[in-house]
Amino acid sequence: MKLMVPTEQALSMVLFAAEAMGAGDETLLRALTPLVKFRACRDNIAVATGAMEARGGNGYIEEWVTARLVRDAQVGLLWEGTSNIIALDLLQRAIGRVGAQRALAQRLGERLGTAALPAVYRERLGAALDRAVALAGDVARDPTGEPEARSVASALYHAASAVLLAWEGARSPGDARRALISRLVLEHRLAPRDPLRRERRSWEEPAIDRLLAGKPIALPDVASLLVA
Ligand SMILES: Cc1cc2nc3c(=O)[nH]c(=O)nc-3n(C[C@H](O)[C@H](O)[C@H](O)COP(=O)(O)OP(=O)(O)OC[C@H]3O[C@@H](n4cnc5c(N)ncnc54)[C@H](O)[C@@H]3O)c2cc1C
Repeated sequence: MKLMVPTEQALSMVLFAAEAMGAGDETLLRALTPLVKFRACRDNIAVATGAMEARGGNGYIEEWVTARLVRDAQVGLLWEGTSNIIALDLLQRAIGRVGAQRALAQRLGERLGTAALPAVYRERLGAALDRAVALAGDVARDPTGEPEARSVASALYHAASAVLLAWEGARSPGDARRALISRLVLEHRLAPRDPLRRERRSWEEPAIDRLLAGKPIALPDVASLLVA
């Protein structure tokens, strides 16, 4: 799941950015470009490293592609712009000057409003998105907010990708797996948790088993796991 969730988040965000580019939606694209560069480039390092680890020693030797993927993952942080600089570009220019977070909130809100998801789950996603957008605006207005730039970028990325994954899942009722991935983003990246408390969630094991089985899951089955 540590490989699958960030990979699918990046796919949803990149395709959303491509759609904004095709539609000439410049304000939305202004937010999405640094968001994707920041988070997807960082997550790529963990995902490529995890892929190498899954192969054990075989992942390290050059007979497999994973060694090159791990090496190449590092360069995204440089040639796409370093994380601090990209996060500052998002916070101070895209949000602070252009107000691009409002376009992001509007387009994602439209998608969420039309998604055939359980109302309780849709409301949870909407609340997470609203809070991430409000946080971004607050920090951008605060002249002392610079140290929070990276947290803001991560919060917006996770909230946006959770909404997109849920919307995509609801659009394909025969196979709504992406909506399940959205819940993993919501619970693990956007919800508070106590690292010192033991926590087993009744929905999570069946959800992960179904996702790892690699077979389609119909929307009603997914919906029951979204609210369990
Ligand atoms: C393989 C490769 C290909 C490249 N191709 C291109 C290309 O085609 N076109 C191009 O224009 N460039 C290219 N670059 C250059 C690349 O964009 C820069 O290396 C990159 O932006 C980092 O800048 P820098 O090396 O000057 O590091 P620096 O700016 O010195 O950054 C060093 C560290 O300090 C941090 N830092 C710097 N300023 C601040 C600040 N104000 N606040 C907080 N932290 C800060 C950075 O986040 C970074 O972690 C390429 C680089 C590589 C490695």
